Amino acid sequence: MTQSQYEVVIGLEVHVQLGTRTKIFCSCPLEFGSPPNTNVCPVCLGLPGALPVLNQAAVELALKASAALGCRINPDSRFARKNYFYPDLPKGYQISQYDEPLAEHGTVRIAGKSVGITRVHMEDDAGKSIHDGFRDSDQYSYVDLNRSGAPLIEIVSDPDMRASDEAYAYVTELKQILQFVEVSDCDMEKGQLRCDANVSIRLWGAGEFGTKVEIKNLNSFRFLKMALDFEIGRQVALVESGGEVVQETRLYNAGTGETVSMRSKEHAHDYRYFPEPDLVPLRVGSAWHDRVTASLPELPAARRARFIEVYGLKEYDAQVLTASRALSDYFERAATVSGDPKTTANWVMGDLAGLLKPAGREISESPISAENLGELVKLINSGQLSGKLAKEIFPRMFEAGGTPADIMDREGLRQISDSGALEKIVEEIISTNAKQVEQYRGGKVSVLGFLVGQVMKASRGQANPAAVNEILKNKLM
Ligand code: ADP
Ligand code: ZN
Ligand code: MG
Repeated sequence: MTQSQYEVVIGLEVHVQLGTRTKIFCSCPLEFGSPPNTNVCPVCLGLPGALPVLNQAAVELALKASAALGCRINPDSRFARKNYFYPDLPKGYQISQYDEPLAEHGTVRIAGKSVGITRVHMEDDAGKSIHDGFRDSDQYSYVDLNRSGAPLIEIVSDPDMRASDEAYAYVTELKQILQFVEVSDCDMEKGQLRCDANVSIRLWGAGEFGTKVEIKNLNSFRFLKMALDFEIGRQVALVESGGEVVQETRLYNAGTGETVSMRSKEHAHDYRYFPEPDLVPLRVGSAWHDRVTASLPELPAARRARFIEVYGLKEYDAQVLTASRALSDYFERAATVSGDPKTTANWVMGDLAGLLKPAGREISESPISAENLGELVKLINSGQLSGKLAKEIFPRMFEAGGTPADIMDREGLRQISDSGALEKIVEEIISTNAKQVEQYRGGKVSVLGFLVGQVMKASRGQANPAAVNEILKNKLM
């Protein structure tokens, strides 16, 4: 048998750090890159007797995420202790949620299918163990507890994905949704989004799922896909050679492109969950629930659909322009000013992106405001600015800022529509191109294009082409 005779089953567990100012159970700041062990207090250091206090802003963001993922928010949920020992977990337990999570039963749409969200629950993050990057790291490991107590949500999917590409599409959509609703920046380089992948195979048509393997701590979407592809191949080969997949946790080694066993089922943790006695149950009343739901912005999928429907954009363009909320907002503001969404889309995706990228700037840092880009498109469409001149003005707007009109004035690039000035140029071209003039008058109308071109050139592209056409025709009659 071959790989094609097996069906792949994938479910993902995604941890997302919430974008609060402070930690989940204390008021230590949540800052990335502070000197180690400086953003700590008795609570997040796990000192005896310290008591956690739930951060309301973290709950607010967790609720927003849950609502954006279409989950049912449980009016009552409860925190639970998940007990295990680890050097970067000074309390000896994580405060998580277990059988009474914050939210359940959501969905995320990816191309052609829905992926179910099993649950969204809140928990605190552990600190960070650092095993390398130090002079004496062959002898010592280090612990940084700045991250201890960072607010997380864990988003658990149903086992609904059937290929590594679907897993990739799912995390991409998930990240985009969370960024749109401003729950988290989801910056993977800062560890704000981390992913565990569960994968199994079964023969097509089999009623039950196969034994799953969990691949932990995938810190890029590319690695997620590569780890899954490797793991699927490994499981198929194993089963094909008469072996059996064992339930275990594996790690992906990006260097070798392989997954390696970390711990088997026998060594799986028994977390001895029990309700957290230091926190009261979390109650989300209907007023709070409704307020959060009402505060949700338009989500990426809806916005893409609207861009196609209302602005007539192509699917691909809508995709690109909704990559972030900031970019969608920029495009819409520019399109409103220009009144020409399609041309505006081309300028944003083409010329503007082409300047932002090498400058290493985000759309939010664009020196050309959405209004000024819209203004430029409007000037082109009204015939006050030729396409060619616009291409020259645009980079100058990027360097110097300002409206297109400012640049045109400053650089003497205003289009010449003044008929007196144009007539002078036209007369000159007629007198220096006697042969073509004769051809035109003899009935070869196509020569007009050449003559218009000459006038445009003589005006350094500043003549209004429509006006030139008119004047030439009149003078050649
Ligand atoms: P565990 O008890 O080992 O944590 P769960 O049932 O909580 O397992 O599921 C954890 C994740 O694994 C979920 O995302 C779920 O969709 C996924 N999952 C469960 N069973 C399978 C399977 N047989 N194959 C692939 N993924 C699975
Ligand atoms: Zn603290
Ligand atoms: Mg589980």
